[in-house]
Amino acid sequence: MIPHQLFLDGRYIGVDGTPKTRLINPATAEVFAEIDSATVKEVDAAAISAHQAFESGWRDLAPGKRASVLFKIAAVIRENAEELARLEVLHVGKPLADARDEVALGARVFEYYAGGISRFYGQTIPVARGGLDFTLRQPLGVVSAIVPWNFPFAIACWKVAPALAAGNAVLLKPASISPLTALKLGELAHAAGLPAGVLQVITGPGGTLGDALVTHPLVRKVSFTGSTEVGRRIMELAARNLTRISLELGGKSPNIIFADADWEKAADAAPMSVFANTGQDCCARSRVYVERPVYEQFVERFAAATRKLIVGDPLNEATQLGPLVSSAQRQVVEDYLADARRCGSTVVCGGGRLPSAGFYLEPTILTGVAPEHRCWREEIFGPVAAVVPFDDEAAMLRDVNASPYGLSGSVWTNNLSRAFRVTRAVQSGVLSINSHSSVHVEAPFGGFKQSGLGRDLGMAAMEGYSEVKNVYVAE
Ligand code: NAD
Repeated sequence: MIPHQLFLDGRYIGVDGTPKTRLINPATAEVFAEIDSATVKEVDAAAISAHQAFESGWRDLAPGKRASVLFKIAAVIRENAEELARLEVLHVGKPLADARDEVALGARVFEYYAGGISRFYGQTIPVARGGLDFTLRQPLGVVSAIVPWNFPFAIACWKVAPALAAGNAVLLKPASISPLTALKLGELAHAAGLPAGVLQVITGPGGTLGDALVTHPLVRKVSFTGSTEVGRRIMELAARNLTRISLELGGKSPNIIFADADWEKAADAAPMSVFANTGQDCCARSRVYVERPVYEQFVERFAAATRKLIVGDPLNEATQLGPLVSSAQRQVVEDYLADARRCGSTVVCGGGRLPSAGFYLEPTILTGVAPEHRCWREEIFGPVAAVVPFDDEAAMLRDVNASPYGLSGSVWTNNLSRAFRVTRAVQSGVLSINSHSSVHVEAPFGGFKQSGLGRDLGMAAMEGYSEVKNVYVAE
């Protein structure tokens, strides 16, 4: 069952007279559905009904009751997990196993914040005068959640669950090419008992709807995940009403391997640390720095592990990498590869298409890249890694931190003091030591510098969907 209308005020509603968005299966290049696009009129109506739903009960619902609705949403997600996973595969082409993990992650996020509701409270503060001073955590009101196409379901849950838990109403806008699981989330949440209007799903192109979702006077916060370019525009627009924002943006994350590390383990982990989700991952560790004594062996082992990755039909249970999300996205990546070749880089493995109608590209490792090359500086958002040797820790760190981005990264070493020294020095919001994991439901996730501001996940996200009110009671 493929939804094809907007989910507004507790039901699917069609929009006549606007161009529909054609959804293309990235694995076959075939059009399989057409989805209605909202206009500014629908955004306005949704904001008004979200505000009414917020004011007329959701905001003031007893914490235990709000928690039980969120637990029920998690249960309904689990009951419909296979359908959600298959919809995800259909429109973004990710391997079925990954899509199942993503749906399970979404359910866990709802459970985490359902549990968080009863642990979310203010403080009592000793102040200079007598009496009592305490803080209240209050919801903001209507929140616009704008999400990208690379993890459509998981990132929607990262935003919707903490915002609802804190007592807000949400307007969710998925990327125009990946609306299906967001629409299903709206439908399932409503079926689980979420009042009409508290979560509405608005589909259509961000360029048209974005301004309305950001500047609508009833919208109190915009929670955005996507490109740095669009994040910058949202920040400018949000300044008009001083609307709160959180931005999770692009990345160009380092993978730093010291010679004293278990470098073989690092080389075996390196392919999925950059090529998972076909490299369309904001945390992709696409800049690989390897200390000179193990550089040659590392590249050889990294390439051997990469050649073993199973690339192909995302519905095949064994597949590890599916196609890129669209023909346009593949072209962007191929342009980067052409530029790298022009600049004299070596393609160690990959670099070609698969003989298929889908938007496949082999995972690719480059060497011989210079700091000024585009493929070293810019986010490619595809299956491309570049590896460079380094001799000096301080010089390597200067290059790492020369990036305008600062989202994620890894440090591989068995020297504890080096691990902590380098971890402190790398300018990024998330870092892992001897691992390539970036995301934990319970821990804050977000970037330094042009990778964004604010945090998703952990209790930090719930705090970001609330205001602190300080109250003083006279003696
Ligand atoms: P994008 O910025 O093109 O789109 C993201 C969302 O913004 C979509 O819903 C889109 O429709 C909407 N949008 C587009 N123009 C808009 C406008 N003018 N105003 C408001 N909304 C608008 O990004 P994408 O191509 O969907 O995703 C890829 C990018 O997302 C990459 O840069 C990636 O690094 C980033 N990303 C970051 C994180 C993170 O947590 N830091 C996670 C995933 C993806």
